[in-house]
Amino acid sequence: MPNAAETRTGVYLPVGSLRAGLYGRNSKGLDKSIDEQIVEGREAAEDNGWPIVAEYSDGVSASRFGRKTRKDWHRLLDDLDQGLLDVIITWEPSRADRDLETWVAFVAKCRARGVLIHITGEDDTLDARNPSHWRRLIEGGLDAAMESEKISKRVRRGVAAAAVAGAFHGDCPYGYERVIVGERPTRHGPKPIKEQRPHPVHAPVVAEIFERVARNDPISVIVADLNRRGVDAPAGEVWHRNTIRKIVFNVAYLGQRSHKGEVHDGTWPELVDAEVFHAAGTVLRDPRRKTSQPGRLKHLLAYLVTTPCGSVVHYMGPARGRAARYHCVADGCTAIGVAEAEEFVARLVVKRCCRKDVRELFTDDDEPARRAQEEAAALHGKLKEATDSFLKPKGGISAERLAEIEQQLAPLIADAERRSVSRKAPMALLALLSAAEFGAAKVRPEWDGLPVAAQREVLRLLFDEIRVGKPVHTLTRWSTDTQRLAAATARMKVTWRRPGTPVAAAREPGGKPRGARAQRRRQTSVELASQHAGTGA
Ligand SMILES: [Zn+2]
Repeated sequence: MPNAAETRTGVYLPVGSLRAGLYGRNSKGLDKSIDEQIVEGREAAEDNGWPIVAEYSDGVSASRFGRKTRKDWHRLLDDLDQGLLDVIITWEPSRADRDLETWVAFVAKCRARGVLIHITGEDDTLDARNPSHWRRLIEGGLDAAMESEKISKRVRRGVAAAAVAGAFHGDCPYGYERVIVGERPTRHGPKPIKEQRPHPVHAPVVAEIFERVARNDPISVIVADLNRRGVDAPAGEVWHRNTIRKIVFNVAYLGQRSHKGEVHDGTWPELVDAEVFHAAGTVLRDPRRKTSQPGRLKHLLAYLVTTPCGSVVHYMGPARGRAARYHCVADGCTAIGVAEAEEFVARLVVKRCCRKDVRELFTDDDEPARRAQEEAAALHGKLKEATDSFLKPKGGISAERLAEIEQQLAPLIADAERRSVSRKAPMALLALLSAAEFGAAKVRPEWDGLPVAAQREVLRLLFDEIRVGKPVHTLTRWSTDTQRLAAATARMKVTWRRPGTPVAAAREPGGKPRGARAQRRRQTSVELASQHAGTGA
């Protein structure tokens, strides 16, 4: 028997007496209430002649599936660490901790410190340093953990069965409504049968959100627009960035139900096409979104067009009677008017979109890219499901399990994204190509209607490089628009991206374009002077 009581604390205790800590815990369906546990524990302490130095009681579940903090359990562990206790009195192992890992750690702690564990339910004092006692303690903890697993499984089974059946669960997602369509008899009387249907007003809003996000409309613009129009928001609030994000990542809008990382077909109709759904998700997951400052995306050609010195241009606003221009970031070696440079590029894009072979840039590998996109979206769904489950106040997965799932999914997600990114044709480009089916005149308004971010994405897909050379013509402030465009045409050159080659990495402001000169030497450039001479005149 350990007998360090009088040396470990300054408190006077009779020689040979053990300082007892009494732990009681409440949980559902329990045979002993917390008060009964405490009373019996006190009796046991008295019988054994142990002065109780501390009592601990927690009103919440000790199971690893119960996520509320057990404050007193942690207090007990602290006191144990500080050597303030010689014996712990508890009703049964499951009263102390039903999470096997923490129970084992607790037993190990007691063993190391020579602290006894008294189980009142069995009227037995166990010393973990004794191998047979240690075995009983561990087995007791194992039994408790198994029981906890069983309880949790029973609860989850109901939810899982509903999920597999594709039944809806929880709150009705924005965009849908639940309608009573009949009754079914149950033991407790008739219960309504409900159906989840598109909401007549909200469903079109959801469709609009997906379309706009897929087209690369900035979320802030969408949010402002919805709030300005007074469109009903989920839960009667105003629209926020997060409301949009939640909608875009919710597979319910595909008519699907995700549960514990598995996706099932739901019993309700989808609100958006799979293509639009995945395109929107890809836009929001694009890591470049997070790093790009909003200001960077205001101007079509900023940091895209390269200069003779191998740098890129940035935007300079109108000043002292001079129009806005793009200007070399590095040394100011070149400048070109914003209006004519953008007009030149717009005309090129229209021409390119009308050529049949533009589709070769995307269609030859459209299928694997689409599959990779779906794969990535499904994996993200799994991860999100696991995170949600972990964050639930109770009934969710453990932190360890979440870490495990994350570890498994991370490389798969990275791989699927790598396979889908370089080949994806964003919605904006698809819109241009569809317009091109009806002739060049339809493409230009479509292009002009795109947000700048989407236009830039299209440029990155169509061109390997757009560069501006030294002025060829001399312009004055009295030069006409036509003269300016002709001057721009004479000094701007592009390299088209060829089918099967990857999209160039985004250029960072201030940084030099990667390998721009090497690329120039390697690739055949299209001489615009010959191809598009006179387009502006
Ligand atoms: Zn320069």
